[in-house]
Amino acid sequence: MFTSIFLAALAAATLTRVWLAQRQIRHVRAHRDAVPGLFAGSIPLAAHQKAADYTVAKARLGVVDTLIDAAILLALTLGGVLQWLSDLWQRAFPPESIWHGTALILTVLLLRGLLGLPLSLYRIFVVEERFGFNRMTWKLFFVDLVKGLAVGTVLGVPLLLVVLWLMLAAGPLWWLYAWIVLAAYSVFLQMIYPAVVMPLFNKFSPLEDPALAGRIEGLLQRTGFRSRGLYVMDGSKRSSHGNAFFAGFGAAKRIVLFDTLVSRLQPAEVEAVLAHELGHYKLRHIVKGMVISWAFSFVLLLALGLLADKPWFHHGLGVDTVTLPIALLLFMLVMPEFTFFVQPLLSLFSRKNEYEADRYAAANADAAELVRALVKLYHDNSATLTPDPLHSAYYDSHPPAAMRIARLRTA
Ligand SMILES: [Zn+2]
Repeated sequence: MFTSIFLAALAAATLTRVWLAQRQIRHVRAHRDAVPGLFAGSIPLAAHQKAADYTVAKARLGVVDTLIDAAILLALTLGGVLQWLSDLWQRAFPPESIWHGTALILTVLLLRGLLGLPLSLYRIFVVEERFGFNRMTWKLFFVDLVKGLAVGTVLGVPLLLVVLWLMLAAGPLWWLYAWIVLAAYSVFLQMIYPAVVMPLFNKFSPLEDPALAGRIEGLLQRTGFRSRGLYVMDGSKRSSHGNAFFAGFGAAKRIVLFDTLVSRLQPAEVEAVLAHELGHYKLRHIVKGMVISWAFSFVLLLALGLLADKPWFHHGLGVDTVTLPIALLLFMLVMPEFTFFVQPLLSLFSRKNEYEADRYAAANADAAELVRALVKLYHDNSATLTPDPLHSAYYDSHPPAAMRIARLRTA
């Protein structure tokens, strides 16, 4: 019975992903030969066509990724790979133990990571390269991979051990304690990430440009925002994408601009973009997002608490061995096929926040400068100006460029 529910969810999610990608490809191609009126003076046809081709290439890659993921999930569960790995680790550890659970979960995560590697390499060294965005070298890719694994191990394994220990030793309310641990851990990660983890991958240097620094100081004073310094990050080391920038809030509120942003935008444009980011902070979008993710993980852990010791949950997913750690692993693997259908709501929330932050930027900086900055960023990133409306509504964290600009013009 549960096998059918799982298969139905997997099929529905996979078909929806592929269908949305096909819609996106068709829509972008249909609008490939004319720059939308709003951008006619600012984006050349060749750039518009490059953006279309880039969007189509990414959507095609997404379809391949979707199909590979579905195949891996089926092989792990109903295909019996998980049971086989569990039997293998049972030779070393008793099945209902932290060590068996940890070994099994890490093996599966590692396996999935390895199987995903060829496609990541193809994305960076073939697709991004073809469109001229890639700055990554093979050496940097593997250095990043090793560092990422090390950081993942240091930050992830202790958390996994604590959760598994709670599952096995804390009684029927283990899921509630695990939720408290996870919520606290997410705050801890937010605090240490900009100061401890990001410097492992990027260099941060104080903002040198006095004209830009002056403008930003003015903006911070106007909005009553206190920061611990302005930094520039060497994002161009990996990609020429003008990733707007991020502001490393938390205990040490540092403002960080990507070097690609500073080099491409005029100071007034950077100021407007920064005002938008400050808007996210001032309007408590970051806190709201965190509260939503806590509520979401509460529901998921409650569900896992109810499912974890049920043999039908394990058997329905192709595993005979019934243990709580295996339930956790199955849940982590299978849940995305169900939560996929919540995605449009999260996207909607995010787009609402983007409009609010734009309004904040218009009130505290210059809306016309923000429009100019957005057009440049869309141009430089080859982001499509003509996304399929349904694809955009389902996935996009940011409203389509035309809609944002239309609202900014009337702000
Ligand atoms: Zn934003």
